[in-house]
Amino acid sequence: MLSKDLLVVGAGPAGLATAIQAAKNGVKDITVVDLNMKPGGQLFKQIHKFFGSHEHRAGIRGMDTGAAMLEEAQSLGVDIWLNSACVGFYDDKVACIEQGQPDGTKKIVFMKPKTIAICTGGQENVVRFTGWTTPGVMGAGAAQTMVNVNKVQPGKKIVMLGTGNVGLIVSYQLMQSGCDVVCLVEALPGINGYGVHASKISRAGVPIYTKHTIKEVKGNGPNGRVSEVTIVEIDPKFNHIPGTEKTFEADTVTLAAGLKPVSDLVKLQDIDLVFNGPFGGWVPVHNEKMQSTCKGIYVAGDTTGVEEANTALEEGNVAGVSIAEELGCITAAEADAKRKEIWERLDGLRMGPFGERRAAAKKEVMEQFPGVRA
Ligand SMILES: Cc1cc2nc3c(=O)[nH]c(=O)nc-3n(C[C@H](O)[C@H](O)[C@H](O)COP(=O)(O)OP(=O)(O)OC[C@H]3O[C@@H](n4cnc5c(N)ncnc54)[C@H](O)[C@@H]3O)c2cc1C
Repeated sequence: MLSKDLLVVGAGPAGLATAIQAAKNGVKDITVVDLNMKPGGQLFKQIHKFFGSHEHRAGIRGMDTGAAMLEEAQSLGVDIWLNSACVGFYDDKVACIEQGQPDGTKKIVFMKPKTIAICTGGQENVVRFTGWTTPGVMGAGAAQTMVNVNKVQPGKKIVMLGTGNVGLIVSYQLMQSGCDVVCLVEALPGINGYGVHASKISRAGVPIYTKHTIKEVKGNGPNGRVSEVTIVEIDPKFNHIPGTEKTFEADTVTLAAGLKPVSDLVKLQDIDLVFNGPFGGWVPVHNEKMQSTCKGIYVAGDTTGVEEANTALEEGNVAGVSIAEELGCITAAEADAKRKEIWERLDGLRMGPFGERRAAAKKEVMEQFPGVRA
C-alpha cells in the first residue's frame, strides 16, 4: 500500500497545475496518474496558438504550455505515472493500474492518499445516425490525436460534423496534414465557432453546410469502412427535409458536437453532482476552494464543467493551494490571499459573451454546495 499526501488523477492543465501549486506550497509526496503516454491532456494535441491575454499564454501553442508545465512539475519532485489509470475507490483506498512495467505486465497498485484531486477532463458527445458505428466514424479529438500526436492520417476524405472551435480547428489541422476535408456539417443556422477559424477553411474552398446534419453513413469500404456520407437539411425542429439530401464519397466522419465532463470517478465517490447545461452535463458540486462534497477530494478543470485550458489551469491552481491548506502546509489566511489572486484571474477569463455564460454556470454550481461530508 502506497501512502501519499496527494494523488492527482489526470495530467492535463488542471491536474498538472494542481500538483505544481500544491508542491510549491509545501505538499511533499505527490503522484499524478494519467491514461495517456504523454502528460498534458488535451494540450499536447494543440499545435495551434492560443487566444486571450499575454498573462494567459496567448500566442503560445498548447503543446508548449504542456511541456513547460511538465518540466516544472518534475523539477518540483512530482511523480508522474503515464500509461496508467485510476480505476476505483475502495473505502479509503484508491486502485490504480500502473502500466509501463519492463516486462509489459500491468500492476494494480492500492494507494492511501491523504487528499485526491480529480482532474479527468472532458470527452466528446456522440451523435447517432444510420451507420454511426461504421469503422471510420470517430470523435474529432481522436482524429486530432492521430494527426498531431501520432502523425497518422485518420483517413483521406473526411466529413466533419460540427463547426464549434473544435470542429473548425481540427478540420484545419487535418487539411494541413494533407487530408481532403470534403465538407463541414452544422445543425445550427450559423457557424458555431470563431469566424477567424471558419474563414481559413472557407478560403481553402471547403463548403460548410449549416442547417444540415448527417442522415446516413454507408460502410462499403475496405473492412466495412465508411465509403459514403449522406447529409440532409433540417428544419428548426431538427426534422430532416426530404429531397435535400447530398451524398459525398468519404472514408472518415469526425464528430465535434460538443464535449461533456468525464465524471466516472466522481460518480464512484459519494460526491454530489448537479446537471448544468452550459457546462456540458453532470458536474461535481464544489466550492470556491475546488473542494467537492467529500472530505479530502478536490476537483478542477473540464471535469467540473467544460471550458478551456486556462480556466482549467487556474482551477488547478486553486485546488493546489486548498490542498496545501488542508494538509497544514500553509495557513488559512495565506491560502485565502492566494485564492483571491487566482479567482481574480479566473473572473477575468470568464468575461465577454461566452465567458459570462460560464461565470453564471459556475456560480450556479457553487451555490448548490451543501458543505463537506467526512
Ligand atoms: C480540439 C480542441 C481545441 C482546443 N483549443 C483550445 C484553445 O485554443 N484554447 C484553450 O484554452 N482551450 C482549448 N481547448 C480546451 C482545452 O484543451 C481543455 O479545456 C483543457 O485541456 C481541459 O483541461 P483538463 O486538465 O481539465 O482536462 P484534459 O486536458 O482533458 O486532461 C484530462 C486528463 O485526464 C486523464 N484521465 C481521464 N480519466 C483518467 C483516469 N481514470 N485515470 C488516469 N487518467 C485519466 C486523460 O487521459 C487526460 O490526459 C481545446 C480542446 C480541444 C479538444
